[in-house]
Amino acid sequence: MEVTLLGTGDTTGTPTVGCDCDTCERARDPDADLRGRLRARGVDPDDGVERSRFSVYVRNNETGESLLVDASPDFRHQFLTQDVPLPDAAIVTHVHFDHLDGLGNAYRLFDDLPVYAADETDPVTGESVAEGIRSRYDYLDTVSVHAQTPYEPFTVAGFEVTLVPVEHPPLLCYGLRIEEPESGAVLAISGDTCYEIPGRSKAALSDADLALVEGIVHHEACEYHPAGGTHRDDDGIPRTFGTKHMTLDGARDFAADVDAAAYRIVHTAHFVPADRAFADDIAVDGERFSL
Ligand SMILES: [Zn+2]
Ligand SMILES: [Zn+2]
Ligand SMILES: [Zn+2]
Repeated sequence: MEVTLLGTGDTTGTPTVGCDCDTCERARDPDADLRGRLRARGVDPDDGVERSRFSVYVRNNETGESLLVDASPDFRHQFLTQDVPLPDAAIVTHVHFDHLDGLGNAYRLFDDLPVYAADETDPVTGESVAEGIRSRYDYLDTVSVHAQTPYEPFTVAGFEVTLVPVEHPPLLCYGLRIEEPESGAVLAISGDTCYEIPGRSKAALSDADLALVEGIVHHEACEYHPAGGTHRDDDGIPRTFGTKHMTLDGARDFAADVDAAAYRIVHTAHFVPADRAFADDIAVDGERFSL
């Protein structure tokens, strides 16, 4: 399994348009230390650090097929700058802008793009993620939606894939377990979520070769969230920012909880201070992993 991180940022991305904070400035013009560390991670530092809106490209080494996890609004830029062909299928984890709105790119680029998503009805919206995609993209004949039941593995692009319910109130959202059957390689993706998720979901995300875990901000930022922070560790540090995202501390604990052989924190915002935002365990666009 070959994993390419196409988009590793939150909903505004880093750098954020119109922002001149220290983190966005350091992303635009990395210093020598950061350039060296990016090169060591296989990322070209010359165009700066990108954390565009979330998307992951997964290639199946056994069948040659590929799968796109989430349709980033940065789809076009991602496929122009990262050396990967168009995918054979896609999965959408939830209906927030930064994970869904790239689907319009299916127009003219695909004859058929099968999109897989959960079939559970969301009590807030009255529709499942699959129905939400169908209703928004009913004008696009190239998109076909395939509803799947959470926790029940299905096959797509030669992978065994499981939609794993997580906690991202008020919307239903799903993490993913993606397994390559012959090699047994496993990729786990937390999806957008707070720290506390059902035990069955944590089990389904466990023992991966690589875990991509959402971590949006440093824990001190909870002070500025109307809902504060929750799911505190033994030292009182919040692992959830507000109600629907993890702090960086939460993401690191989550990665340890699910016992991943390796992990990266994804979906990180530019609010993280510049001296902490580019730690080596926080993903940047263009990182690749062979599992
Ligand atoms: Zn900024
Ligand atoms: Zn979201
Ligand atoms: Zn998001």
